[in-house]
This record gives sequence, C-alpha cells and structure tokens, in this order.
Amino acid sequence: MRIVALTVEHLELPLDPPFHANWDPVPRRRFPATIVRITTDDGRVGIGGGDTLDGFRPHAHHVLGTDPRAIERQVRVLESIDFHGPRPWPVEAALWDLLGQVTGQPVATLLGGMTDRLAAYASTGAAKSAADHADVATHVRDRGFRAIKLRVDAHDRPRALAEVGAVRDAVDDDLAIMVDLNQAWRMAGDTTGSIDLAEARRFADALAELGVYWLEEPLLDRDLAGLAQLRADARVRIAGGEMSRTMDDVLAALDADAFDVHQPDVVLAGGLWRGRTIGELVIRRGRRYSPHTWTDGLGLLANLHVAAAVGGGPFLEFPYDPHGWTPDRRDFPLVTPVDIDASGDLVVPTVPGLGIHLDEDRIAATRVGGWRVRSDGDAIVDEELPR
Ligand SMILES: [Mg+2]
Repeated sequence: MRIVALTVEHLELPLDPPFHANWDPVPRRRFPATIVRITTDDGRVGIGGGDTLDGFRPHAHHVLGTDPRAIERQVRVLESIDFHGPRPWPVEAALWDLLGQVTGQPVATLLGGMTDRLAAYASTGAAKSAADHADVATHVRDRGFRAIKLRVDAHDRPRALAEVGAVRDAVDDDLAIMVDLNQAWRMAGDTTGSIDLAEARRFADALAELGVYWLEEPLLDRDLAGLAQLRADARVRIAGGEMSRTMDDVLAALDADAFDVHQPDVVLAGGLWRGRTIGELVIRRGRRYSPHTWTDGLGLLANLHVAAAVGGGPFLEFPYDPHGWTPDRRDFPLVTPVDIDASGDLVVPTVPGLGIHLDEDRIAATRVGGWRVRSDGDAIVDEELPR
C-alpha cells in the first residue's frame, strides 16, 4: 500500500458575533480549520485535522510513495519536518484514520483500548464577570458536565479568586473546577509577561482553599524549575505542557516533575504515536495525562482516541462556552458536532479510524484555499485547489 496523494483544504467560518478568548489579544472574527486527506493506491482516504499545516506544503512530497501503515517510520519523517517549522501532526492523524480503516478498528483500539470513554470538562474560553461565570457553571452542570475549566486574568488575581469563588458558591461540589492562567506561552504578537513563582504560589494556595482540581499554566513553559518548586509545595494539582513541541520537551518536564497533569495536544505537539507513549510514561509515574484539545472537532477526536487508548483523564477537555464557543462553531466541518453523552462522558467512536464524518457541502461553502500534492508516474504534481 502506497500514498499517492495528500490534499489539504483550508476553511474559514466567519464568527458573527465575534468570540473573544481570554488569551487572545483581539476578538476572533473568523475561525480557520484545515482538513488533510491522504489517498492510497487502493483508493482509501484517511482524514485528519486540528491544526493549520501552514508551511507543510514544501515538505509534503516526503510522504508520497511511502507505506502509510509504517507509523514509526512516518513519525520520524514528520519529526524531521517539525524541526524545520510547520507542525505536521494532522498528517499523522490522517495516517491513523487510514490504518483504522485498513484494520477495521477505531484508533483507540489500535493504540491500547484502555477505556472507551472519558469524562469531559467544559473548557470555557471567554473572560466574564463573576456572575456570568457562575451562570455558565450552572448551565454546564445542568447540561450534564461534571467538570468546568475557567479562564481568569492572571494579572488581576483578586478578581480571579472572586470569579472562582462565585462558581464554587453556584455549583457547590457538583462540578470539579479547573483554572487556566495561560501563562506558559503567548499568541503571536502578544508580549505580555508571565506572573512569577511567588505570585503563582499565593494564588495556588488560595485556589486550594476553594477545592480547585487543577491550576493550569501558572508560569512560563520553559520555567521547569519554577514549576517543579510550585508543584512540590502546592495543595492543588499543577497542569501544563499543552504546546510542548517535541517528545523531548515532555520528557524534560516529566524528569523535572513539573506537572501533576501533562497536557501535550496530539495534533499540535508531538503527534498521536508519541502522545500514546507519553501518556503511558506519565501514568506509570503516577501523574495524569489529559491532552489539550482546544482546536476543532477533528483535533478533539484525535486526542480522545489517544487519551482513551492509554487510560488518560480522568477528565478530557471539551471546548465549550455558551458565551460564543458552541459545538456547532467548533466542529463546523463535521456533519454532527462531537458531544457528551447523558452522563457527561465523551465516548470513543466505534467506527474504524477516528470517526470523522465530514460535511462536504459545508466544506465546499467555507473553503478559502488548498492544495494537493500527488504522484503521477515518476513525477510529483503540486496543484492549487479551486476556491
Ligand atoms: Mg490551557
């Protein structure tokens, strides 16, 4: 079996009204999504997504003519590309989707099959007042979730504590509460600095009093020593590592014992195969593996398969905020948005592959560009897709 074509489509959903994520310098007026399809010489098509694949095109020819089932070999090629700029991991997701189809198995089964479900946490995104945080938490609980993650202003911690306290008052112990400070890294162009270890310590102490489940990204991601000191003293779990670029970055964080909860996203950071190994190492050391999934439904599904395969959790991120971030926006390329079941769980799709069911009409209507690289005899053809 050989790969004969790789097709990438770039989509854009206009956001009206805009969505203002707490970590964005400016509100989002459009939401990009990318679909990658890998076609084989026997006519199968594997689908992946979850990141833009910007900059991947000049490297795409490296996968042509290769066996899509040779995952370790494919991952080493993708790691060599990752070093030079573009994050290539949606391509690996498509390879796994293909392997699932070839073997007739869900990807989670191929990667270990530890569990078929994980409890979702509603991962909110917008900054809001304490009263609005409390209203959203009540809504989230009534919708069936068992956990919620709040975004707060790291540089206004008295206000942040009032917001977390309002949520605790509103939902009592019905929801586990996570708090994300988003101090590890910045969106492009954002030069805001991080809080420091002393500030993070005082904040972590206060969150522990409120029974918070984890504190996420309280410090710069490169400050492994500071994170390890914070984690050693804290009475609240410390989470992070969502954008750890390579497996070596994750191993360094593991060796430093920087986190209680390791969060590398399999479509943004290191891929699915390495993610599965990372999850095993993290769990074996008594820490928790709960990958970041703040992308789209394709990225969420890839992370769900890997986390379920290795027995991650106990909670998995489900981006959801009634203030502008709904499943139909998040999953606009899919026929049906990914959602929780009645008990608040994300259930692994039982169909072969990743279980991505694309809405081709929506894709055609939202496509803003794309390209295909394909084999034509001994030649490689690189072509633009029509808009
Ligand atoms: Mg985060």
